[in-house]
Amino acid sequence: MSKKLERNDPCWCGSGKKYKNCHMRFDEKIHGFELEGHIVPGHDIIKTPEQIEGIRESGKLNVAVLDYVAENIRAGISTEQINKWVDDKTRELGGIPAPLGYEGFPKSVCTSINDEVCHGIPSEDVILKEGDIINVDVSTIYKGYFSDSSRMFIIGKTTPDKEKLVRVAKECV
Ligand SMILES: [Zn+2]
Repeated sequence: MSKKLERNDPCWCGSGKKYKNCHMRFDEKIHGFELEGHIVPGHDIIKTPEQIEGIRESGKLNVAVLDYVAENIRAGISTEQINKWVDDKTRELGGIPAPLGYEGFPKSVCTSINDEVCHGIPSEDVILKEGDIINVDVSTIYKGYFSDSSRMFIIGKTTPDKEKLVRVAKECV
């Protein structure tokens, strides 16, 4: 809230409307929280239509990579194989795998099997077997925009407990 806008000035959001008919009340409300001692974010976290479009395009690539994993994942492959699919497919589509090198993370995707909560590291030594459940967590950078989603896969047929966990978690999402 650095620049002091008058009521009849054009709004900072770029809508073309007068400030008083656009974000003035919103700013006053936020400023009220600030006066109460809360930490409030600046306007710069509000994305422009162009930025939202950029995030959307990144998200499409992210989902395409997960769809590719879905088509190929099966018993007998290593989680390193999933890492290779994600890395190759992301780059083929013009993106960059966001996890690689992030705070030292050594791989391009997170693969978490059964009771691993999250952020499992792919390995040649971890082989998927019938009945495993696995979360594949893909983060993508495309033209500077980040997107991130994950999906659970059931390898073949699993136990009723694991099946229920995957199904109910998906319903909640
Ligand atoms: Zn506005």
